[in-house]
Amino acid sequence: MCGIVGYLGNKNAFPILLNGLKRLEYRGYDSTGIALIENGKIDVHKKEGKVRELEQITENQSFKSTIGIGHTRWATHGEPNDVNAHPHVSNSGNLAIIHNGIIENYGSLKKDLIQRGYTFESDTDTEVFVNFIEDIKKSENLSLEDALRIALTKVIGAYAIAIISMDTPNKLVAARKGSPLVLGLGKDEFYLASDATPIIEHTNEVIYLKDEEIVVMENGEYHIKDSRDIPQTPYIQTLELELEAIEKGGHDHFMHKEIFEQPISIADCMRGRLNAEKGELTLGGIRNYAKALQNAERIVIIACGTSWHAGLVAEYIFEDLCRIPVEVEYASEFRYRNPVINEGDIVIAISQSGETADTLAAIELAKSKGAIVLGVVNTVGSSISRVSHEGAYLHAGPEIGVASTKAFTAQLTVLFMIALKAAKNKGTIAENRFQQLLRELSLIPSKVEKALQSNDKIEEISDMFKNASNFLYLGRGYNFPVALEGALKLKEISYIHAEGYPAAEMKHGPIALIDENMPVVVIATRDSSYDKIVSNIQEVKARKGVVIAVVTEGDSLIPGMADFTIEVPSTHESLMPLVSVIPLQLLSYHIAVMRGANVDQPRNLAKSVTVE
Ligand code: GLU
Repeated sequence: MCGIVGYLGNKNAFPILLNGLKRLEYRGYDSTGIALIENGKIDVHKKEGKVRELEQITENQSFKSTIGIGHTRWATHGEPNDVNAHPHVSNSGNLAIIHNGIIENYGSLKKDLIQRGYTFESDTDTEVFVNFIEDIKKSENLSLEDALRIALTKVIGAYAIAIISMDTPNKLVAARKGSPLVLGLGKDEFYLASDATPIIEHTNEVIYLKDEEIVVMENGEYHIKDSRDIPQTPYIQTLELELEAIEKGGHDHFMHKEIFEQPISIADCMRGRLNAEKGELTLGGIRNYAKALQNAERIVIIACGTSWHAGLVAEYIFEDLCRIPVEVEYASEFRYRNPVINEGDIVIAISQSGETADTLAAIELAKSKGAIVLGVVNTVGSSISRVSHEGAYLHAGPEIGVASTKAFTAQLTVLFMIALKAAKNKGTIAENRFQQLLRELSLIPSKVEKALQSNDKIEEISDMFKNASNFLYLGRGYNFPVALEGALKLKEISYIHAEGYPAAEMKHGPIALIDENMPVVVIATRDSSYDKIVSNIQEVKARKGVVIAVVTEGDSLIPGMADFTIEVPSTHESLMPLVSVIPLQLLSYHIAVMRGANVDQPRNLAKSVTVE
């Protein structure tokens, strides 16, 4: 959600910033802008729309500035338009700011500033923020960083910000609280960004700034201080991210690339952890709290969106294998109610980006009540990985498509491994079953590969349904969360209304919607509820619904009832979501492409949801 880039060095800043904004496009945004210091003056170019539109309006201009900041905005205060786009400049024209997040008390600050003669062009909280800093800077005659530090003690909210000042054209200042910010260290030059993707082509030495830290870059040096002005010793990390991992590599869309990468990303996720030949499973990230997990009286899983669906599958797995009661909560609900959390409860927080604001806040709440938090995140070094007690990375590689695909299957893989290991430690699984599940898990990458071979058939089916206005997705047991996920994928990228339901719940409402125009996707693989779901298909057919069934290879019964069938290889039912979700990802992808939708950056959506 929203992206920040900054540059200070000896190169031309503009192309670096523009390219950086392109790298951040996947996060989701509605407007863009860049501020430079040209000929001693702040020079701002901003535009509603995509980065290429910013590129167009600046095409014939040449820039010399070696300092600058750039932004992709995801509007929270004020509609997406040219005026509300960032950067915002202070009344005197001295300061320019970019901001990710929300200043919650902007209303009262704005009132005060208006009384003091300030005027505002935009509806944003950010323009208030920059003038608030200016006001402090001027009235107390402070340096930019000192004024910023004081301002930050008075604002309530979340932010990642970068500021430049016309007065100090060789200084770039940035700060964060609740929104991510990474500093890249080049040779006599600095890069700033919301994540490492704009940085890695320049340097792999980075520092993930911590909450309430302020960094000042000037004359080839940088200094990081906390909110009390105390110098901090930074931890410099060397990133292993490859540039090609964030490029499309011949695919039309990132989503397509990521769907087809799944045999590899799932294998990467198991690498070094699972050894089926030796019958071993090791989770290096969960050692100190492994006992606490196996002895837990309760597990609470907190997540949002697709990660929440992975959590639902995990609930079934943990309860089945470990016999520990599990609750799955939306982070946004959990954090604002008064949940019962007991000392020693295990909270598993799932987030692809590791920056999801609601999940972060839910973790803080759980920790304050004595829970042990295990993070399941993809982005190495992200906020959730840092605030969790322990956890396991997905190792799925960067996911750029806004609609999550490979992160979902990697989440299922990691959660399965955590549950299997805990069951083994706890003694709730027999050795032969443990070995069998381990072997079955190790075969998943090749089964996903096989499931992907239905791509052409799914493309044909997509063509027939691309103009539908509603879809229903049904599944039972382990395939129920898959039905939710399939419906979410379709909504997200094709903008077709879709609902996922447990198949048996259909008769309690959604059955009223079924007629000959309603495509019903039924995930009906062979498992313990097979006979039941066959009856559900009959119920849909009896009402003239059109059934697209996902079935296990070799099924001879359902093809005689359903209008279309898509086969997937058989596996243990607890692992089936890893395979049965593949056709649903492909179905949503092809339908969205055929409808001309922007698959990688669907409207209104953001990849990394850093505001609550
Ligand atoms: N609250 C700011 C605005 O609406 C920043 C939004 C963002 O994070 O992009 O302009």
